[in-house]
Amino acid sequence: MKKYKIFDVFLFVASIIIGFSFAPLDIDLKKYILVVTIYLVFSAMYSNQKILQEKGSLSFDYGISYSQSFALFAGPFGLLLFEIVNRFTTYFQRKVAKTADEDEFTDTLYNIGSFTLYHTVGFIFFFSLYPYAQMIPFGFFLLFFLTALLISFQGNILMLLSFYFSGNLHSWSEVVVFIKGRSILDIAKVALTNALLYYFVMENQWEMLIILFTLNFMVSRSFVSKQESVKNELERDRFREMAYSDFMTGLSNRAMMDKKMREINGTGELLAIVVADIDKFKRINDNYNHSVGDYVIEHFAGMLKSHTGKEDLVFRSGGEEFTLFLRGRGYEECVELLESLRLNVSDHPVEVEFNGVETSISYSASFGLYFNEMSEDLPMERAYNYADQLLFEAKELGRDRLVVRNGQQSLVYS
Ligand code: GH3
Ligand code: MG
Ligand code: MG
Repeated sequence: MKKYKIFDVFLFVASIIIGFSFAPLDIDLKKYILVVTIYLVFSAMYSNQKILQEKGSLSFDYGISYSQSFALFAGPFGLLLFEIVNRFTTYFQRKVAKTADEDEFTDTLYNIGSFTLYHTVGFIFFFSLYPYAQMIPFGFFLLFFLTALLISFQGNILMLLSFYFSGNLHSWSEVVVFIKGRSILDIAKVALTNALLYYFVMENQWEMLIILFTLNFMVSRSFVSKQESVKNELERDRFREMAYSDFMTGLSNRAMMDKKMREINGTGELLAIVVADIDKFKRINDNYNHSVGDYVIEHFAGMLKSHTGKEDLVFRSGGEEFTLFLRGRGYEECVELLESLRLNVSDHPVEVEFNGVETSISYSASFGLYFNEMSEDLPMERAYNYADQLLFEAKELGRDRLVVRNGQQSLVYS
């Protein structure tokens, strides 16, 4: 049997011994059963909620432990009986729903054991100080808070021990991170809730008790659904981003290009549309291999990115073909930019490792640049076709060329 499982069983046995040493119950049995029923119903509602949260990748714990008030009302023996019923109800629920994990049984023992043990310490602590707490304003609540702190401290220790036994704890810094992760605000929330629950139970204020439970449930429920809708939105944004980006180069893809074209269409924006294509790329794939080819594509994409600004748009519109929308720039400036890009590409061979040897691969690219106002008379689609045609001319003229057209006038740079 694994060490952490032995630890779970040990805690359970210890809690049985300690719980029974406080037996029998010295409270009215009818009242005990009524309180157990109410607490069980709300615990079950919470544990269902938890199952729901665990389906997502983010795991938050919204559940409040009501055991503090229950322990003070029923004493360690009463709490032990309650925890056994409560935890095993959850255990069988999960077994039936097939959501139980492989350690579910010993986890259940751990929960019963640890809860009973540290709430027993809390119980003794609380009632030793109770007479003094009554002497100061808010002493009752303050004492609940101190007890909750003590309980949380013990909870941390037992949890860390359990991590240690299961081999999930490797350094002191992990201990610090774990303890820091416990929020004091959460402890205060648990303390206040339990103080009120305890008060209502002792005063037989059953309606108030149920209202408080319901309020708590609704607050955490709305928190969960808000959290879920935020998560859904994040996921939607991520999918949208994935749908519009090219995995290999990190640039926007063709779908994004079509979207941007629709946006710019007819706005009258002065725009340079550039279609760029790596020359004789098939040869690179053939002479080396596909992954070297990929590397060259990534290198070229990097060149395009480093030569353009934040306002410009760069798309991978095909395999080794890219489209650029240069924005907010004059015609001369666009030509200058592309010429420097073209020369830089042919001057900077790619360094790759091929068959274990550092190899330097030179390549060039051809560019077609069409510059105009994207008015109603010139649909983006047509402007793009013009740029594509200019690229074709650059290829025809021998590659490693920039062919530009501004209105009617065409120029070739080589
Ligand atoms: P040209 O100078 O006329 O453009 O010649 P080319 O060889 O570059 O012409 P072509 O466009 O016909 O060939 C492009 C090749 O790019 C064909 C395809 O196998 C290859 N290719 C397309 N996408 C990828 C990719 O993602 N990775 C790799 N390694 N190759 C790709
Ligand atoms: Mg090509
Ligand atoms: Mg091509």
